[in-house]
Amino acid sequence: MIPVTKPFLPPMEEYQELLKGIWDRNWLTNNGPLVNELELRLKQYLNLDHLLFLSNGTIAIQIAIKALELKGEVITTPFSYIATTSSVVWEGCQPVFADIDKETFNISPESIEKHITDKTSAILATHVYGNPCDVEAIDAIAKKYNLKVIYDAAHAFGVKFRGKSIFEYGDISTTSFHATKLFHTVEGGAVITRSPELLKKMAFLMNFGHDGPEKFVEVGINGKNSELHAAMGLCNLSHVEKILKKRKEDYLYYQYSLQPLEFISQKIHKETEYNYSYFPVVFNSEADVVKVMHELGNNKIFARRYFYPTLDVADYLETSSEISVAKDIASKVLCLPLYYTISKVEIDMICRIIKRSLRYN
Ligand SMILES: *Cc1c(COP(=O)(O)O)cnc(C)c1O
Repeated sequence: MIPVTKPFLPPMEEYQELLKGIWDRNWLTNNGPLVNELELRLKQYLNLDHLLFLSNGTIAIQIAIKALELKGEVITTPFSYIATTSSVVWEGCQPVFADIDKETFNISPESIEKHITDKTSAILATHVYGNPCDVEAIDAIAKKYNLKVIYDAAHAFGVKFRGKSIFEYGDISTTSFHATKLFHTVEGGAVITRSPELLKKMAFLMNFGHDGPEKFVEVGINGKNSELHAAMGLCNLSHVEKILKKRKEDYLYYQYSLQPLEFISQKIHKETEYNYSYFPVVFNSEADVVKVMHELGNNKIFARRYFYPTLDVADYLETSSEISVAKDIASKVLCLPLYYTISKVEIDMICRIIKRSLRYN
């Protein structure tokens, strides 16, 4: 069986070594030493000012929305994971979908501008598959209309744009360290900001609003993560360079092995240091996607239609945006298996089956 992804696991001894310390200290959660160490090492590795380690990437988006005190409408992308949209609704705001760019698959700045009303308070954009959004255009729009910007950077661990971490863009960036992501802590996530005020506010928000044991300064939630999760993160962080290197090799090997198949691949901005976190293929038609998935499935290979359907179809939404590019890409995209332990032989087999099912050989 070849799944679309498999979590990376460090050598068990490395994890056990950190567990010993946890048992010795008998300190399991609430801002323990390993949580602090992980935050510090992530900030060093990614060269960030501020980062808070949270229980997951969804609570990270919710805390970001709460910290920025967003109200009314939030312009967002319909081509992302459902957590991007549901978080907006959960925080009492209304998602308004802008269309995406047909080459980068990210939210289109022109379409954002078309959807701004006097109720718009923010833009929530996803760096889809780790590909940086048009951050400059989005920043310019935000300045012009006085809007806040949150980036859902759940796919973007290790990505740099113009020499700095993509997490440094926007008022707040959020990310996920879920087991299926490139760098993970089993469950986990983070918020990143350059603002000391927002950092302080989010530190209260993630911990019930506690300011000391007897004072509550914000309507908080429990967004903390544990020593056991931090331990996994510390182990995985020491392997992340080789994970990134292996993914790049596999990504390039897919591109090579799929020849001469015609498909659209995502256009990555040239000033990007990319992380190769997914291998999306946009076929010529939805029928081709279905055919390929079926053939792969017959061989116990499971590709996934990330992201299909577009998020506007969620039962709890009523939206009327024209998002034809997003609909089109969503209907034709398929993410092929990509994970640390996938072999070249397996990639060969996947590519052979795809080409055969579309009669390209
Ligand atoms: C994974 C993911 C999330 C949610 O992260 P969790 O840690 O699973 O809560 C949010 N947005 C995007 C784009 C994701 O891929």
